[in-house]
Amino acid sequence: MAFDLDMIKQVYSRLGSRVEAARKATGKPLTLTEKILYTHLTEGAAQHTYTRGVDYVDFAPDRVAMQDATAQMALLQFMQAGRPKVAVPSTVHCDHLIQAKIGADTDLSTAKDQNKEVYDFLASVSDKYGIGFWKPGAGIIHQVVLENYAFPGGMMIGTDSHTPNAGGLGMVAIGVGGADACDVMAGLPWELKFPKLIGVKLTGKMSGWTSAKDVILKVAGILTVKGGTGAIVEYFGDGAQSLSATGKGTICNMGAEIGATTSIFGYDTKSEAYLRGTERAEIADLANAVKEHLTGDAEVYANPELYFDQVIEIDLDTLEPHVNGPFTPDLAWPISKFAQAVKENGWPTKLEVGLIGSCTNSSYEDITRAASIAHQAVTKNLKTAAEFTITPGSELVRYTVERDGYLGTFEGMGGVVLANACGPCIGQWARHTDDPTRKNSIITSFNRNFAKRQDGNPNTHAFVASPEIVTAFVIAGDLTFNPLTDSMTNEKGEQVKFDEPMGIELPVKGFAVEDAGYQAPALDGSKVEVKVDPKSSRLQLLDPFTAWEGTDIKGLKLLIKAKGKCTTDHISMAGPWLKFRGHLDNISNNMLIGAINYFNDKADTVKNELTGEYGPVPATQRDYKAAGIGSIVVGDENYGEGSSREHAAMEPRHLGVRAILVKSFARIHETNLKKQGMLGLTFANPEDYNKILEDDTFDIVGLTDFTPGKPLQVVIHHKGGLTDTITVNHTYNAQQIEWFKAGGALNIIRAQMAK
Ligand code: SF4
Repeated sequence: MAFDLDMIKQVYSRLGSRVEAARKATGKPLTLTEKILYTHLTEGAAQHTYTRGVDYVDFAPDRVAMQDATAQMALLQFMQAGRPKVAVPSTVHCDHLIQAKIGADTDLSTAKDQNKEVYDFLASVSDKYGIGFWKPGAGIIHQVVLENYAFPGGMMIGTDSHTPNAGGLGMVAIGVGGADACDVMAGLPWELKFPKLIGVKLTGKMSGWTSAKDVILKVAGILTVKGGTGAIVEYFGDGAQSLSATGKGTICNMGAEIGATTSIFGYDTKSEAYLRGTERAEIADLANAVKEHLTGDAEVYANPELYFDQVIEIDLDTLEPHVNGPFTPDLAWPISKFAQAVKENGWPTKLEVGLIGSCTNSSYEDITRAASIAHQAVTKNLKTAAEFTITPGSELVRYTVERDGYLGTFEGMGGVVLANACGPCIGQWARHTDDPTRKNSIITSFNRNFAKRQDGNPNTHAFVASPEIVTAFVIAGDLTFNPLTDSMTNEKGEQVKFDEPMGIELPVKGFAVEDAGYQAPALDGSKVEVKVDPKSSRLQLLDPFTAWEGTDIKGLKLLIKAKGKCTTDHISMAGPWLKFRGHLDNISNNMLIGAINYFNDKADTVKNELTGEYGPVPATQRDYKAAGIGSIVVGDENYGEGSSREHAAMEPRHLGVRAILVKSFARIHETNLKKQGMLGLTFANPEDYNKILEDDTFDIVGLTDFTPGKPLQVVIHHKGGLTDTITVNHTYNAQQIEWFKAGGALNIIRAQMAK
C-alpha cells in the first residue's frame, strides 16, 4: 500500500520557505489552510499573492484518489496523455459499484461478477500506469485514504465529493471531476479559485453521548447546505485537539454537506497517535520536525475574526447530540428537541431501519461506541425493534473489529454486516418494505439524506445522527425516544435506561488484517495490456480528437438553440446513463436530451436540416457527423452549471459539434470545453441570441488569428440569403488556444511525451 515517503519529504522540505515567503508577501500571520495552499502553488503561481474568493490559481496537488465509478473516464482520458506513469501518486478504489442486498460475502461476489469488465479494466490500467489499486471489498475510498495516504500538510484531489475526509489528518483534500484528476495525473497544473476561509473554534471537551458527528451536525445547522460554498473550513481551539483523528475525519467528510470546498484540522498529538497506530511512524516523525507549520499561526487563533472571513464558536462542553433531517442534512435538532419536532411535524415516529458505518462514521472508535450500546440490548434484555445494518469502511477496520468481538455484538442484537463499500449510502441497497407508499422513517450515520438517496423511495424520511444514537434508536424503534433520558420496558417487564456509550479510539492490540485488498502496480508497466473488451457496452478506449484544420470554420448547422437553464445534467443526464460513463459513444446518446429547444419548447426534439424532420438531438447530430457537417449549440445564461462532469464537454466534441455559443458560461464547464479542444464563445451583445433562427448556418471567422483577448466574428446566414455578422467573445489564454489548435489538452501532453 506504500505511501510515498519521498513525496512527503519533498512537501515538507519546501513547507517552511513557502510559509515564510507567504507571510512576507501578505504581511500577516497565516492560517493553516493558507500555509498548505501556498506550499502547493505551482512554481509560476508561487510568485504572487492571491485574493480569496476572487483569483483563480494554479496548484500542484500531491496525490489523486479515484473511486471506481468516476475513475473510468478519468483513466480512459489519462491513457491519451501518452505518459508511461502517472505524474503524482494515485489510487483507485472499488467501492461504489457494490450493491448491498443480502450480506457482505454474497453481495461482494455478485458485484465482482456483474462489474467484472469494469474491475478488470481498472485493475489493468492501474497496473500499467503505476496506480495503486484497491480491489472490491478493500473498503470505501475515504476511509482507505485516511488509513494509508492522508498526511498532515498535504494536498490531494479525489473524484468524489467526500474527499475532504482526509482533512481530519491535516490535508487539503478536495473533491473534483474526472477531468481534473486526469490533468493532475498527466502532469498539468490544477486550477482553483483561491478559497475564502471559515474558522470554527472548538472549546471545551465532549463527554457522554456527544461525539464528533454532533459537531458537524451542529455546523450544518448553522451554515446550511450552501453556507460553506467557495470556502475552506478550518477547525482550531483546545476542543479540536481533544478530538480523535478519525472523529476529525468524520467532521471534514460531512463538511461536503455545507458546500465547503474542504475542511481541515491542524496536526496534533491525536494525529500523531493515528499515524503511528496505522503503521506510519515515519510520517509522524517527519511531521513532528515541521509541526509549527502544520497548524495556523498563534496570532490567527488568538484573534480569528481578523484573519478568517467568518468565525463560528462551538462549546463542546455543552454540545448536545444532534439528529438532522429529514430530507436535508442541515435541519439540525438537538436531541432534547427532536421528539417534539417529530410529533409537531407529523414525521413517522416508528423507526423502520437504522444504518451505521460508511466512509463517514466507521472508525474503530465509532464501532466501539455503537457496540457499547448494542451490547446493552443483550445485557438489559431489550428486544431490537428496527432493522439494523453495519457497513464497515475498510477491511482493516472490519477485520480488527471482528477480531475484537464487536461485529459479533451487533449480530447478537440482530444486525446485518454489509460489504466494506458504499452500499446503502448511495442507494445500492435492497430495502425491505411491505408498502413503499407508506410514509416511513430510517436513520443513518451517513452524511446525505436527500429524498430517495438511500432507497429511492420519496416516502422515506431519512435522519442522520452518530452511530451510537442510531444504535439506540434501532433498539427503541421509536423516534420520540430520547436515549439520554428515557426508559424502556424490557422483555422482563422492567424499566431500563441506556448507560452512556464508551469508545476506544485506537485498538489496544493494534490494527490487524489478513488481506487488505491492495494490488501494487507493476514496476515496469510497459508490457501490461489494458483490458477492454471491444464489444463492451460499458467501456470504450478513446481515440484522440482531431486537431483544428487551420482555417475558419464554415457552414455549421444549428443543432439546438437551448432556452433557459441548461445545466450539465441537461447536457449529459445522470441516472441510468451512468452505467455508460466509461463508454463515450454510448453515453453520447444522452447528449443535450434535457435541453429545451427554443423553437418548440420541447426537450430532445430538434429540426434536422438535412431531412427537414424533427428528431432527437443525438440522432440529429449523428446525421450531421455522418455527412461531415459540423454544428453549433446556442445557449442562454450560465450554460453548463451544476456538476463538473466532463462528459458534458466530451459528448458534443465526440459527435462533431464545433462550438458552443452562449450568453454566459458556468466556469468549470467552459474550462472543460477548452480542455477538449472545443470553442466556447459568448455573445458580445447578449441580445444577439435573438438573431439566431432555426434554419441558420454559421461561419466562425478570425480563427487564423485566434489571440487572447481578441474577439471573433460569427457570420449568421439566414434562410433566404440575409446575413448577420456578430461579435463573440472568448476567454482563451495562450495555452488554451494551443489546446484548441491541437484538438485538446491531452494531445499536447502526448506530443510532449513523444519528444
Ligand atoms: S459511503 Fe457514501 S458518502 Fe462515502 S464515498 Fe460512499 S457513497 Fe460517498
